[in-house]
Amino acid sequence: MKRVVVIGGGYGGLRAIEKLSKYQDIAIILIDKNPYHYLQTEAYGYIAGQFDMHDVAIDLQNWCEGFKERVTFIHKEATSIDFEQKKVHLDGRDLFYDYLIIATGAKTNFFSFIEGLRENSYGVKNLERAHNFRIKFENIIYKKLQHEEDSREGKLNIAVGGAGLSGVEVAAEMAYVLDSYSKTIGDTAKEIHIYLIDASDTILPGMGQYSIDNTKKRLEALGVKILTSTFINTVDATYVHFRSGEKLPYSFMIFTGGIKASSLNDTIDNEKNSINQLITTPELNVQGQKDVFAIGDCVEIKDAKGNILPPTAQIAEKSAEYVAKTIRQRIDGVESKPFDADVSGVFIALGGKYAVGEMFKYIKVKGYVAYVLKKAITHAYYLGLRLRINTGFKNRNR
Ligand SMILES: Cc1cc2nc3c(=O)[nH]c(=O)nc-3n(C[C@H](O)[C@H](O)[C@H](O)COP(=O)(O)OP(=O)(O)OC[C@H]3O[C@@H](n4cnc5c(N)ncnc54)[C@H](O)[C@@H]3O)c2cc1C
Repeated sequence: MKRVVVIGGGYGGLRAIEKLSKYQDIAIILIDKNPYHYLQTEAYGYIAGQFDMHDVAIDLQNWCEGFKERVTFIHKEATSIDFEQKKVHLDGRDLFYDYLIIATGAKTNFFSFIEGLRENSYGVKNLERAHNFRIKFENIIYKKLQHEEDSREGKLNIAVGGAGLSGVEVAAEMAYVLDSYSKTIGDTAKEIHIYLIDASDTILPGMGQYSIDNTKKRLEALGVKILTSTFINTVDATYVHFRSGEKLPYSFMIFTGGIKASSLNDTIDNEKNSINQLITTPELNVQGQKDVFAIGDCVEIKDAKGNILPPTAQIAEKSAEYVAKTIRQRIDGVESKPFDADVSGVFIALGGKYAVGEMFKYIKVKGYVAYVLKKAITHAYYLGLRLRINTGFKNRNR
């Protein structure tokens, strides 16, 4: 029996376990510092109050028990790895592995060169911060419902720093909610303005022109104020200060402008890129460690041509599938091919039943059709998780 230890129950970790669990000669242990799997891709809806907690968090213990004793869950933080001894150090315990998968993801990169950013803004990369942000958003609406005026220039501005996929989705969903609320709680909801700020000269830098153009149109229709080519210099408790000298009074701020790999990477002696992601071999091995793999956002992943792939759930899952297959091949003494994958497509949720998406480079859709396609992808993922936790829940309560 071989023991595979997976650190991180995110998109990559869970997909690797699903794939490995079909082999009877492999025992799997999942370690996560949180007791739940957080569906970050749905964070935009949770923040805006459109989704509930159970839409974005899945209990990992129940999920693991869905594998009927094939997968063990340990709710602890992995603090470091001893590659010589092949063991993971946990808080107060060591765990041996035959094969190890590092799938610890990434966190918000509150750039240290923007003074005050970390102290004065929220991220969405972890559930706690997203939850706090949701409360702020609800409070702001409550304030408007009570017709309470904000002391600063009578305005309630929400600043979203970073106009990549997550920033755009969060801004659009909040704007949509405010627009819908104005029918029920009154026009004061319209006095809450959302500013989407990015240093690039475009929203969604690096994405297809179709997505950029149609997302911009939708955001503008929802009343989002887009500030591109706008550099944030400092953030204090009441203002976002721009390099141009202008400043924006704000009530609260969310920052989605960048990520950096999880802190476990700090303890790993391996080449890393500027955002702390591990640089692995083409087989996604930590350098010099044939039994240790890294997948998802914590690693710089390239396609066969050497292009860096974006840190997405999609690529985390594809790298997980590849690594599960490679571990099977290593156990069987079969040679494995280097990792290769491409982004199949990206769908962007843009408030209510509206989305924009591009698939396989030639399918381009927007509006309700794109929304239905995006929902179908999310539902398929969520259904898989639910089937597992239903089995796990039954097993526990038998
Ligand atoms: C708002 C938003 C929208 C997004 N939309 C999309 C989208 O539409 N499509 C898409 O493909 N991607 C999207 N993404 C990106 C996607 O969510 C990430 O790329 C994906 O979560 C990466 O998966 P992962 O498995 O590498 O890491 P994660 O999902 O971040 O999981 C990492 C896990 O590791 C655990 N962990 C970390 N350190 C330790 C440690 N030391 N010990 C134990 N456990 C640890 C964490 O608790 C976590 O459970 C979106 C992200 C955001 C924020």
